Parts: sequence; structure tokens; C-alpha cells
Amino acid sequence: MTSPENWSAEVRLPRRRTRRVMIGKVAVGGDAPVIVQSMTNTDTADYIATALQVAQLARAGSEIVRVTVNTREAAVAVPKLRDQLLKMNVDVPLVGDFHFNGHKLLEEVPACAAALDKLRINPGNVGKGKSRDEQFARLIEIACHHDKPIRIGVNWGSLDQALLARIMDENAARAVPRGAVAIMREAMVASALESAAKAEELGLAGDKIILSCKVSAVQDLIAIYRDLAERCDYPLHLGLTEAGMGSKGIVASTAALAVLLQEGIGDTIRVSLTPEPNGDRTREVIVAQEILQTMGLRAFTPLVAACPGCGRTTSTVFQELAQDIQDYVRERMPEWRDQRIGVENMTLAVMGCVVNGPGESKHASIGISLPGTGEAPVAPVYVDGERTVTLKGDNIAGEFRAIIDEYVIRKYPARIEY
Ligand code: SF4
Repeated sequence: MTSPENWSAEVRLPRRRTRRVMIGKVAVGGDAPVIVQSMTNTDTADYIATALQVAQLARAGSEIVRVTVNTREAAVAVPKLRDQLLKMNVDVPLVGDFHFNGHKLLEEVPACAAALDKLRINPGNVGKGKSRDEQFARLIEIACHHDKPIRIGVNWGSLDQALLARIMDENAARAVPRGAVAIMREAMVASALESAAKAEELGLAGDKIILSCKVSAVQDLIAIYRDLAERCDYPLHLGLTEAGMGSKGIVASTAALAVLLQEGIGDTIRVSLTPEPNGDRTREVIVAQEILQTMGLRAFTPLVAACPGCGRTTSTVFQELAQDIQDYVRERMPEWRDQRIGVENMTLAVMGCVVNGPGESKHASIGISLPGTGEAPVAPVYVDGERTVTLKGDNIAGEFRAIIDEYVIRKYPARIEY
């Protein structure tokens, strides 16, 4: 995990003060960096398929992974999943996602609770009427018994209807009632805070609680989390629920999370992207990392700055080179991260012509400026702001990769195992 000393030197945003909660070995809140989470979409009962996806997500950089626990078969599979991950040398904290029958599953399969690092419960789906309080208490008792933290995860798609009705009644009795949107936002926050207070009354320690209040509209999310952040000091998990597919999901999540992170709100994040059919689940991890990295909050992988191209460069050579270099860096990063200190802070530039190419290249650790239309067929390379070599011919990509490899070894000290 990237430690705070590796954060960008330029950006140190004020962070909201929170309690610190341990999820397995990973700290959330307090002075810990913002943590990246993800969730599997496999059937947890198929623990082999789930282990493979958890491993993929963890290798992509997910620091906590959540799995659905919706049936007895899934609950029974969780300890096997943990064992399988250990065999695969994957040591990532696992969170179980429980709705409706969580109390029963955890009571009937205690090994499931023991194998998890955190329980996520949704106050809107714990039960109805009288059974709600009783089932909520049973869940908290199980968390206390196994010494596990919980996330109280409110979701507007499953908001506690009794609580919403109560808040609407209270609103109707006001001299000047508030609008429907304000009431929905208030009900979300109240559901999280009242559930957390109840959990503490029932004996769960305050440093075992994380809150989230997910909605699918950007402005609602921002307003709700600002309110939540002011009214408690629990760590907050951020995410826009049902963000959607492709660029819409990425843009909406980034818009919402960036505003809150900029204000110091948010201790863990998840980008809830809908994958393309058979698409890569790790995309949500990469997007979450890129949000944090482009904001200068953490560094995970060297990012490649590339110009968009224009009429000055009619070939696709520089686009292909930019893609090639970004893929190469992602591929090499797991090994580099294990072996070299600070390599995630390296910056690269691949530019299309001399207009902005040399300037942008000089600002990067390593930059290359390809020839635009009508320019001499040579590509000057800059290393730490100095022009070093000029590449030409058919193997520019290979030679540029070799320059990157040499730079990593020369610039970033080797990790020494004691
Ligand atoms: S650097 Fe050159 S090719 Fe790239 S966008 Fe600017 S002018 Fe166009």
C-alpha cells in the first residue's frame, strides 16, 4: 500500500478528522490515505471463480474487496474463499455484503463471520417492523462477538421506509415544511447516524463503524456527505451508486467524488461502474486510482500525459505509442512497486508534435515528442527536463521502453528486505 510519504508533494489537502478503523491489516480513517475498494460480481458460492476475481481486483490495486453473501451456500463458501486466496498468496481484506437474511446466515455459519474482515449491513434491508430492531441487534452482537467492524451502508434504493415516513411526518408538522429532496437527504443521513448510535448502544465500539450513504445523483451525494461529515466523526466510504456504464459512469463518479475529496471528505472510495458484457471488472479499480492520482492525493502507477492530436499529426503513431507506453507501465508496475521505492511518482509524456511536445516533455520525468506532419522524422526525448537522445526509425517504442527501464533502475532506490 502506498504510504502517506509517497503522496504528491504538491497537494496536501486538509482531511476531515475521523476515528481510525482497522479492516484486517488496512487502516481506514484517521491519518490513513484514502483507500480504494471494489466488489466482485461472481456468485460467491463459486468460491474458485470468486477467488480468481478477488485476486484480479487486488492485483489491480483494490485494497479492500467486498463479496455478496446472500445464501447459505455463499456463507459456507466464504471460509473456502479465504483459504483459496491464501493459497494464491492474495492477502486482501474481505468484506461480506449482507441484506435481508444476514443475521441468519452469520448465526448459522459462524465461520463466515470469522473469515471476513468487515460486515456491510444496510439498515433499510435488515428487517421490517419489530423484527428490524431485533435482527439489527443480532447483527451487531455477531460483529462484537467476532470483533469485526461494520459498514452501515445506506442506499437510497432501499431506504428504511419507516424512518422516511417518520421524517416526513415530522416535516409536515413544521411551520414551513421542507421540500421532498431535502427530506430524502435528511432521511439518508438520519438512517446512517441513528443506526450507528444504536450499534454503539448495543456495545459495538465507535472505532468499529464506517458509514456510507449512496445515491445515484451527483448533487444529492455531495449534499448528503457534507451533512454527514459535519455530524459525525466516523470514517466515510464514498461512492455514487448505480453510476452506470462507460464514460457516463466514470464522469458522474469523478464529478461527485472529486468535490468531496477536495473538501477532505471520504476515507475509502468505490467507483460502481457497470462493466460491458464480459468486460473487465478491474476497470473500477483503475478509475478509482486515477481519480486519487490525478487529484494528487495518492500515487499508484506512472501516468502518461498525451496530447489529443490535431491536424498537425495525421498519423496514429503517437496515439499507438501513448497506448503502448501506458500498457507497458501498467504491466511492469507490480514488479516495480515491489522492487523500487517511489516509482509510482514517475511521470511520462507522449506528444504529437513540436508545438507543445518539448514543453510538456520537459515537465515529465521522461517525455518524447513525435514528429508532426512535415516535421523531420525524429523524436527528441527529454529526461528530467534535459534533451538526451533523438529516436528515429521503426523501433521508437522499444527504445523508449528501454529508456524508461533504465530510468527506473537509476532513479528509484531498490527496496531492501530485512
Ligand atoms: S502537441 Fe502538436 S499534435 Fe498535439 S495537439 Fe498540440 S499541436 Fe496538435
